[in-house]
Amino acid sequence: MKRIYFCPTCGATLNPNVKIILAASREGARGLLLFSPQPGNYEVIAPDELPLRPGDRLDFRCPVCGKSLDSRANENLAELGFRLSNGTEGRVHFARRYGEHATFYITKEEVRSYGENADAYSNLNFFGAGTVETPQE
Ligand SMILES: [Zn+2]
Repeated sequence: MKRIYFCPTCGATLNPNVKIILAASREGARGLLLFSPQPGNYEVIAPDELPLRPGDRLDFRCPVCGKSLDSRANENLAELGFRLSNGTEGRVHFARRYGEHATFYITKEEVRSYGENADAYSNLNFFGAGTVETPQE
């Protein structure tokens, strides 16, 4: 199913083509990173000016409005909006640290978690009222 990812602040589509495009920075280095739209796929394409080392904690911003994409749920996560072709909308939270594999797709009904580091966030309450566990796909 086609997933549209969008900025929670300005609503701009962040995957106009195949990849999700995010502005990222760490310690003064900045660049645009390309991410797979596929849940659980952690391939990242980085430009030469922003070489990524495992453990790097990145600041993500919307490339359109420049607003921070920090997650409201946890300081170690960033957050995007997503919309499926069937109309379902939700938020995706993902680890800001390069090499940390933890992603959460949150809709009104459920939380789906991906990545071998997702358990580190099992205490997080994305709804503000209890987290529903669903098996990984
Ligand atoms: Zn934006």
